[in-house]
Amino acid sequence: MNRNTSAIYQDLDQILVTREEIAAKVQELGLQITRDYAGTSPVMICILKGACLFFTDLIREIDLPLTTEFMAISSYGSATKSSGVVRIMKDLDNDILDKDVIIVEDIVDTGITLNYLTKILKQRGARSLKIAAMLDKKARRKVENLQVDYVCFDIPDAYVVGYGLDFDQRYRNLPDIGVLSPRIYGNG
Ligand code: 5GP
Repeated sequence: MNRNTSAIYQDLDQILVTREEIAAKVQELGLQITRDYAGTSPVMICILKGACLFFTDLIREIDLPLTTEFMAISSYGSATKSSGVVRIMKDLDNDILDKDVIIVEDIVDTGITLNYLTKILKQRGARSLKIAAMLDKKARRKVENLQVDYVCFDIPDAYVVGYGLDFDQRYRNLPDIGVLSPRIYGNG
């Protein structure tokens, strides 16, 4: 998709992270995880739907006999603000007892979603549990002591879309990550 000619890109105020920057960073992270988990077979959990593109790119950069799982979570609230109440819509297919688990998430915002998720996955007896997030909006964190082990990009407090991230289920197919224009969600 050409960012200069695509009509979808007209809805963005700004491109924050380009596809080239994403690819370089994902490759770097893949190498780091390969080193950190040498000799193990981690279970990589993709948090649907937002982390889908990040996940599929990342696992191809990890040279380990890993396995994949998918989990869908819904956070109640309006489209651009999460409420803090989390519900599992699709659970793991296999148990994670004594496994080395890496949760792959699109973005950490308040941290409420991941705080909840890590708690329940720890209860299921994972041997180790780490978080890999594409984006981190540190300024908005509400949960203290949430350890995000791997982050590709720290970003400012803005609503972003693309590379798997949506607004109202749209924009997930943008190859770059950008700031959605407030006129699209009704504040501008
Ligand atoms: P948290 O529980 O950390 O507040 O929220 C995490 C979830 O909120 C993310 O997994 C994502 O689904 C959604 N979210 C938070 N910020 C953004 C954003 O800027 N853009 C999009 N598309 N979703 C976001």
